[in-house]
Amino acid sequence: SDNGGTFDLLILGAGSGGYAAAIRASELGMKVGLIEKDKLGGTCLHVGCIPTKALLHSAEVADAARDSDTFGVKAAFEGVDMAGVNAYKDKVVSRMFRGLTGLIKAHGITVIEGEGKLTGPDEVTVDGTAYKGTNILLATGSKPKTLGLEIDGEKIITSEHALRLDRVPKSVVVLGGGVIGVEFASVWRSYGAEVTIVEALPHLVPIEEESSSKQLERAFRKRGIKYELGTPFESVKTTDSGVSVTLKGGKTLEAETMLVAIGRAPVSEGLGYEEQGIRLERGFVKVDENLHTGVGNIYAVGDLIPTLQLAHVGFAEGIYVAEQLAGLNPPAIDYDGVPRITYCEPEVASVGLTSTAAKERGYEIVEQDYNLGGNGKSQILQTQGSVKVIAQKDGPVLGVHMVGSRVGELTAEAQLIYNWEALPAEVAQLIHPHPTQSEALGEAHLALAGKPLHVH
Ligand code: FAD
Repeated sequence: SDNGGTFDLLILGAGSGGYAAAIRASELGMKVGLIEKDKLGGTCLHVGCIPTKALLHSAEVADAARDSDTFGVKAAFEGVDMAGVNAYKDKVVSRMFRGLTGLIKAHGITVIEGEGKLTGPDEVTVDGTAYKGTNILLATGSKPKTLGLEIDGEKIITSEHALRLDRVPKSVVVLGGGVIGVEFASVWRSYGAEVTIVEALPHLVPIEEESSSKQLERAFRKRGIKYELGTPFESVKTTDSGVSVTLKGGKTLEAETMLVAIGRAPVSEGLGYEEQGIRLERGFVKVDENLHTGVGNIYAVGDLIPTLQLAHVGFAEGIYVAEQLAGLNPPAIDYDGVPRITYCEPEVASVGLTSTAAKERGYEIVEQDYNLGGNGKSQILQTQGSVKVIAQKDGPVLGVHMVGSRVGELTAEAQLIYNWEALPAEVAQLIHPHPTQSEALGEAHLALAGKPLHVH
């Protein structure tokens, strides 16, 4: 094969993990090759974080129009025009895409277009041309799991189809009550659809604190979103009008569309990984704490490895690998300290340990709930929810768990509290601006420090 050149770092996949590594490595003086078969930016920019949050923002606008009377504003909700929603969403994505493309270029990163395959411990081949890397980073990301169901893109769809529907479905069954499932359920309900979520585990967003899941369930019920919890999916049939979904136990649900949102599988097959001796576990590339695969100078990051499947985790891992290669000796990533946000209405957000995890690790804990009912800004927004803080008895904060409109933004403070191992009394000492939702965080810590203000 032809020789495409040699790079200090050759990266396979230009999603969050791959492109962050590329930028950081080039900043540190490395010659970087970035191989991408589709578009710079990957899942997050094109079919993940950004377009879904645009759909959610349109949902928020729809809710505001529908509920405008609550705020004394005369407006009529006449429905959602998907052509308009998609045009707005696409405008956001293309602007971000242009920005990213410019950024990659400005860093002098060589972008190699095409599908790459690992053909040696220091080699990736793209369309017959072999590129050499002193170091190689695998960042091929993930794709929707489908349970072997036939995805026709109309009646049975994944998140990728759900992002470009040309009309609002009348009714939807959402298979999976994790982040992606509940976000789409929330969007479609705001757009006017009948929505039922099917989740095999006992709660929606099951990795979150149980009290957060329960609050989300209550809020969804009020919004008219139905759910079947603790009920595994059994089978689905397409019918003339849509789908007929059968659950374990025999119950059936009819809908126009079924969204399959049962998780994402790593893209690791047929790419030469195993042939080069890289070990896979359930399809994920196995890495050590340095994100090294154990083969040559090959590293892996992002959704491809079994860490949290989040864009900001991909960014952090990409930067971590680049800095290691440059000899900077970066501190290990603390995965417990990564903020987790589910952007539905209301939002669910957390940092640190759940109470169950804290107990499992042997901590004696204290907990404090602060209901947003006592928070002025939340009343202005007419949102319900709470902030819960878990701390080690006589020790630092171990976890923060929040539910409510826009509480995702509060992870900015919660992560400082957690990552800096703040004591509740120290946080109680901070003056929070009034009236903001951040005061709820302050109030929970005031109460934990033994000096509750707006709590009884
Ligand atoms: P990816 O972004 O998947 O990128 C992998 C890249 O590799 C792709 O561009 C692909 O084309 C390329 N590639 C694959 N194989 C090859 C090959 N052989 N040759 C060349 N190129 C190849 N995360 C958040 O933090 N916040 C959110 O709000 C959020 N919302 C989401 C909503 C949805 C609907 C989805 C699906 C995901 C969401 N995520 C969110 C998750 C986030 O998108 C991922 O964690 C992130 O994109 C992972 O980055 P990555 O670089 O590992 O992989």
